[in-house]
Order: sequence, then C-alpha cells, then structure tokens
Amino acid sequence: MTIRQTLLAAFCLVLAVFGLAAFGQTEPKFDFYARGEYRANVPRPQSILRFDVGDHHTTYAQMEQVISAIAAAAPDRVKIFDIGETNEHRMQHLVAISSPENMARLDEIKANNAKLADPRTTSASEANAIAQNNPSIAWMAYTIHGNESSSFEAFMQVLYQLAASNEQATLDILKNTVVLVVTGENPDGHERFVTWYNSVAIGSPDRNAIEHREPWAIWGRVSHYRFNLNRDTLTFSQKESRNMQKAFMEWHPQLAVDHHGQPSQYFFPPTSLPRNPNLPQPVTSNWEDRFGRANAAAFDSNKWDYYVRDVYDAFYPGYWDMYPSLNGATGMTFETDGGGPKGLNWTRDDGTIVTFRSSIAKHYVASLTTLETNAKNKVERIKDFYDFRAKGMAAGSGAKMKRVIIDPTSDRVKAAEMVDILRLSNIEVKVASSSFTSPLAHTYMEKDSKAAAKTFPAGSYIVDLDQPQRIFIKSILEQDTPQDKAFVDDNMARFRRNQMRGKGQPKEDYGFYDITAWSLPLAFGVDAYWTEDAANVAGTMVDADTLETAKRGGVSGRASISYIIPYETDSTSAMVMRLLQSGFKVAVATRQLNAGGRNWPQGTFVVRVSRNPESIHDAIAKLSREMGVNVTTVNSGFSDEGDTSVGGEAVLSLHAPKIAIAADEGVTQESYGSIWWTFDKYGVKFTPMTISSIKNGGLKDYNVLIIPEGSAGRYMSSFGGGGVSALKDFASGGGTIVTISGASVFATLKDVGLSSSKMVGSDDDDQKGKVEDDKPATKPSPTTEPTPSAEMKSDKEDGVAPALPPIASPSANANKVPEALPGSIMRATVDRTTYLNYGVNRDEMPVLMASGYFFRYSKEGTNALIFDANSKRPLTISGFVWEGNTERLLKGTAYVIDESLGSGHVVLFAEDPFFRGMTRSNTRPFFNAIVFNGVF
Ligand SMILES: [Zn+2]
Repeated sequence: MTIRQTLLAAFCLVLAVFGLAAFGQTEPKFDFYARGEYRANVPRPQSILRFDVGDHHTTYAQMEQVISAIAAAAPDRVKIFDIGETNEHRMQHLVAISSPENMARLDEIKANNAKLADPRTTSASEANAIAQNNPSIAWMAYTIHGNESSSFEAFMQVLYQLAASNEQATLDILKNTVVLVVTGENPDGHERFVTWYNSVAIGSPDRNAIEHREPWAIWGRVSHYRFNLNRDTLTFSQKESRNMQKAFMEWHPQLAVDHHGQPSQYFFPPTSLPRNPNLPQPVTSNWEDRFGRANAAAFDSNKWDYYVRDVYDAFYPGYWDMYPSLNGATGMTFETDGGGPKGLNWTRDDGTIVTFRSSIAKHYVASLTTLETNAKNKVERIKDFYDFRAKGMAAGSGAKMKRVIIDPTSDRVKAAEMVDILRLSNIEVKVASSSFTSPLAHTYMEKDSKAAAKTFPAGSYIVDLDQPQRIFIKSILEQDTPQDKAFVDDNMARFRRNQMRGKGQPKEDYGFYDITAWSLPLAFGVDAYWTEDAANVAGTMVDADTLETAKRGGVSGRASISYIIPYETDSTSAMVMRLLQSGFKVAVATRQLNAGGRNWPQGTFVVRVSRNPESIHDAIAKLSREMGVNVTTVNSGFSDEGDTSVGGEAVLSLHAPKIAIAADEGVTQESYGSIWWTFDKYGVKFTPMTISSIKNGGLKDYNVLIIPEGSAGRYMSSFGGGGVSALKDFASGGGTIVTISGASVFATLKDVGLSSSKMVGSDDDDQKGKVEDDKPATKPSPTTEPTPSAEMKSDKEDGVAPALPPIASPSANANKVPEALPGSIMRATVDRTTYLNYGVNRDEMPVLMASGYFFRYSKEGTNALIFDANSKRPLTISGFVWEGNTERLLKGTAYVIDESLGSGHVVLFAEDPFFRGMTRSNTRPFFNAIVFNGVF
C-alpha cells in the first residue's frame, strides 16, 4: 500500500467511524434493542405507534395506548396507577415496574419503605433490615417542560426495556428496585407542542425553519395555566404538581430523576454552586458524584458529549430535583441536547446536526445507567435515606431555629392555605388552643433581627422543627438561605468588572440560576415569627378538618337593611368582584363606618338590601361560605356614633369590573398565567385579548385592562403611537389600566407618558445627574428578545424574570444604574390612606424583586407601596443583593404607583403580584385596583 493509499484508507476509516457526524451530517442511528433477550409477547412501542423512534412525535393518547399494551402483556412486571387529572382532563399515570416477586408484594414494600421516613418509630437496626430486604424506590419523571419532547419518547423505550428484557443487568434493576415512571409531568403542555409541531414539521435542520419557532399560544414548556411546573414544588399551586406530590409522598423514593431537554449538550450532575446548605454533606455530593461518574462512563463509551456543574445548581427548593433531595432522595436533573423546539433535526454551532433520535437515545442510556447504579448501591442508598431524617433530627437539637409560629389574624384563609401546603409534605403542625408567649421570637420582617418576647393569640399555628421533616421545613420556612461564599464572591467580582466596562461593551453574565429568596411566610405575606425556644404549648394537631373549619366563612343571618363585609381576607375583594360581576350592587365605606352597634374600618364593603334583587340573600350565603368570608347582617340604618352609616354619603357605589388582559406575543406567559390562575381560583371573570384588538376598539365594553409583565420595547413596538393613544383614551374616559413590571416600564417611557414616574438610571431620570455630571445613558429600552438559540442554552431564561437591567451601564455611570436582582425579598412601606391599600392591616409588606426596574416616586400620583427614602433599617429581608448598588438605588422608589389620568387610573406594579402563584403579599392592592375601578 502506498503512503497515499494508506492515508486514503485512514481517511475512509475516520469517515466510517465518525461517519456522518462531520460535514453537517447526523449521528449514527442508535439501536434501542441491543439489550435483550426480549420477551416476544411484549409489544414494542413502534408496533403500536407505526413510526420509528425519533421519526415523529408521540401524542399523549398514543403514549397511553403504548403503556397500556405493555402493561397488559407484562402484568408480572408492570402496573399502571392513575394519579390524577390535569386541567385539560388528561389522566396522569405512575407506572410501577419491578420483578414479579416484588410486584406480588408491592403494598408490603411500600409500607416497609414508609417506615424509613420516621426515625422516631423506626430504629436504625430496623432500617438496616429494610435496606437489606426491600427494593429501593426510584422515581423516574419525564417531560415536565412539555416541549422538551425527547424525554417523552425516551420513557416509552425505558419502560419497554424494563418490561420485556431478560438481560441480566435489567433483571438486576428489577430485583433491587421498584421503578416508578411518571409518564408525562406536563401532559397539557406536551400535547400543545406535539400537535403543533407534527402539523408543521418537515424535519428541517435550518434554525430559521418555522418548526423551530413555537407560537405564543402554543409554548408547550409551560402547563395549562402557563406555569413552569419545575418551579412549583414550594407551594404545589398546580393540579399536576399536586398529583405528583401526593404520589411522591406515598412512595418515599430514594432516587428521583427529572428528564429535560434544553441545552446544547447533555447535562447530568454533579451540580454547581450554590448548594442549598440544608442538604447534608458530604453525603449529597458523594451520591451526585457516584451517579455522575457512572453516567460519564456510559456516555464516554458511546462517544457522546456531555457536561457537569456549569449553571445547574442545587439551591432553590422549587425544582423536581430539589424537592426529592430535601426529602432524602438523591434528586437529579438530566438535560438532553435535541428534540423539542429543536425538532427532528437542528444545526449546531459547528454545522453538525443533532437529531431527535440521538437525543432520545441519550436519555434512554442515562435512565438505565442510573437505575443500574442505584440497584448496585441500593442498600447504602436506602440507609442514607433513613439517616437523612435520623441525623437531620439529631442535628436540630443544637440549632437556633426551633419553631415557626404563624398568626392567622390578618388572613385566616391564606394562613390555612399555607399550612395546608406544609401538611402535603407530611409536616406536623399544631394549632394553639390558648394564647402563649415566646421569650425568644424573631420577626420575619427584618434580617438578623434580635430576639424579643412576643405573645401569640389562640389559633396560631405552630411548626416545631424537632420532627422528621426538619431539613425540609428549614429549607422552605427559614427567613434566609445563605449562598456559598465562593459563589457570592465570584459574582461580586463579576459585578465590579462589569462596572468598569465601557458603554456598549458586553457584560459578564452572573451565575444565578433562579431566585435567591422564597421563605414561605414572606412570600405569602402572613404574620410569622421564628423562635429560639420551643416550650410545650397546649393545642391540637392540625388535620384536614381543622383547616376546612378555619377556611370556612358564613353570614350571621338574613339582613333586612344591609350586609357588612369586613375586608379580612384576600378572598373578600374577590367575593365582592364576583357579586358585582353577577349584577349585584355593592358599595364601600371610604371612612370609618358605624353599623350594627360597632365601628368598621375604612374599606369595609356594604351590600344594601334595598338596592338588590331578592337573590342577593342566597348569593351572599353561598359565596361567603365558599370563599371563607365572614359577613355580618345589619337590620337598622341608624349609626350610634360617627358620621358614616350604611346609608352615608361616604359609602360609594362600586362598578362591576369588566376585565380585559393583554394576552399576545410579547406578554410573558408565566405572568399572564399567574393572573389567569388566580382569577380562576376565585371565580373572577376576564377576557384575554390580543394587542391588536386592544388597539382597535376592543376595550369599548371594558373598564379594566391588565398588561402583564413583558418587554417594554416590545410593547412600544406592538402598541405603537395609535395603541398608546387608545390606552390614554381608555384611561381618560374612566378606565383603569394595571401594568406589571416591564409593562410598567413601558408606562413610564417618554413617548408613552402613562406615568409621571421615571426609571432609576434612565435617560429621563432627573435625580441621577445630581450625583455628578455624567454622560447620558442609553434609552430605557427595549430588552432584546432572546433568539431561539439563546433560549436553548439552558433552562435559565425563565428562572428569574428578565434578568436584564433596563439600561446598559456605562462606566461613568457606575453604580447609578440598578443591577437586576436575582429574586430577593425586600421590605416595602404601606401608605394606608389610599384605596389601593384598603384591607391591608400592616405598615410594612414583604415584596419580591426579580428585576432591575426601580421606579422613582411618582410626582403626580400616589405612591402606595414604597421603599422609604428615609428608612434607617436595611430594606433587604432575604436573598442576594448587590452591595453598594441595590439598597442605595432602591431607597426612594415605589413598588406600587397610582396615577390619575382624566377620570381613570393607571396603576403600576414593579413586579408580578402572583409570581409563580407563590407570592401573595400584594393580592389586596392588586384586587383593589380592579374592584374600585372608576370610584376614586
Ligand atoms: Zn426543562
């Protein structure tokens, strides 16, 4: 062979091995059936679907046919459990797969396993025996982001392999494990995506092809209510989350893997910093390392690329890897590199193509490798699961935080809803039967607060940390969860370097994957304290009935003159909106009211019998019961004192809210979805409307328009001059416009002029120049829309809302422009004289900040919630803030602003009032903007 022939042969060999991967071609076709012998009677998914793996997308109903056929053919290994419906009435399933011997004693296995979760009643030696004799429980969940479609196809192959193969490694998994496959965590989102994708796809790898551009109304990543279900395990606000949570708590898995598909390479743990300090170490990291090395070996042998750490941290407790981890499992996220919006084929940066099939194959291999690793280590994994609670409780004896107390006085319905969430995760809560005093109580409203004596009323909820769920309780209820110092230092160093960079220079990204503050008492805005003492308090353990009773409302009788509805719960104003939307007449006392022999505060609602039809009595009885509102009857119009009776001049009639919400390209889906979900929860009616309709006369039958969070620049271009005029006409004519976050930025733009507030650090910000003379900053603008390729880098972009400050910061402006906050909780001061704060019975309120949008006090309007310029105490309550930037620039800004425009209003919210359905401190100001439309 000549040298030339040798080179040619070598070249051909290279081509044959790496094949089509070079030169813009695809990876070799993976064989999903190389791990037999297979039992012939068990059908392969393709025999039912009529297409090969990765050639097409499987719908939810088709998938159900596949799993039913496999279960019917392999009843010795497979059993399907229905775990609950989705909002669109699809049934979610949990498929248990194990050896025939295990399947025959599934209930016994489950009961033994449950014993591991309570070290008070199960000794270490009993736990040891269970670890030897019981299989481990592995929770394998797929497609929480409905458009990350590779994971959906992958689980059918995993299921088939486990149900049909007699390969030794597979039999070992079955012997040592009960595998629980969640066959679609977000069925509604998945179905939106695949129906759309199958209908337009031609398999083009061109990034500009229509099949890679999901329309706004489709975006299958999110659930029916446009919630990111992989951020929902703090409150389980969504049905799908509750279905899975209930099943999870029934089985107590030791391993939990959540399968995704967004980045450009495969990811599996170990995770990066920051790590939630509540996770026990080094045991958590050791397990990540063990699973990670096993997966690495499998990927290396397939010559597949992957990475570990990078941006995937283990900090925020709302993910489906962190929830399992904080319950003692090894919880992990796997991300594959293709499918979903990348479709059947997608061109990578270097011109090579990632196929749907190859990205399915990677999940398949990672799933099976992880199950094998778990099976080999099952005794140790089960023991560590037991130790998580046993050692967790032992470690608690020396800890400062002993107890959390929730005083339900300011909203007994909301407090009961929060306690209900705790109960879902087997947290034991007591309700005090009489008042009691803690000598060492700390308020949640201040960071590093000093302990002081505090007396709590009967009915207060008590959560003691000395119980099996201690680690989990601490992770969701502690006031602040610190981040690793190395992580904080690294980000502060990036911040300082960014401050030195010139205008127009690209800035370094920060390492925050998601919000840095979530403490539930603060997110909910309930009155809560944590204490260093935990003396016994008389009371009873909370059960479902206790909470139902606490949430129940009612009316004291049948009124002959009027009903008084005191504003005591968030649901009060929602009930009033429902009455108004049903055609009943309701009024509000704008001064202290005297009726029925007592005084009622400003903001109390009045329903006059004479102004309403006979059906008002039934409506009040029904709604007060359902919505937990206590209503009092008044049978005389006479007031014993004061100048306002139920018939007084200061009792003003309300207008039925006719609500439109902008729902269109440019509107942030989760923001719109959180308002949709909240209104549905309370039964308030609204109409979602495109921006084009809003511009072109669509508002004529409405008196409230809500513009959710979205890019200010995008709103500017889609509304345009004509749209801005339509908005001004609407407000001037008596309408109310409520804007949120980026929409509020839009309202302050010079060319829009819906508010006299200015953005801190913007061109129009006249206070900025006072510090020293400086070059003009760029216009507040137009956050650029992420390109599809940028979106696909990671799950990051929808974590913290637009993490871009509105303006680039030129070095001359160093520290005059707010750096975007990665989700921190700050203390706002309440102006209790404005109607927007009717019903708010506190002077300070915790609010989440997840952007760099700081609004200067309005000059012409009312600043209803502010970050007090004169505050001597730090504004930060929980989470990360930029030293030298955040606190200084946030002081003297407003969180809620009310502008009068003609006879109407524009009400600006700096952030989402119902972020993830989790922040609820702002509900009353938000509802008030709507229920009092056209009155003030
Ligand atoms: Zn995902």
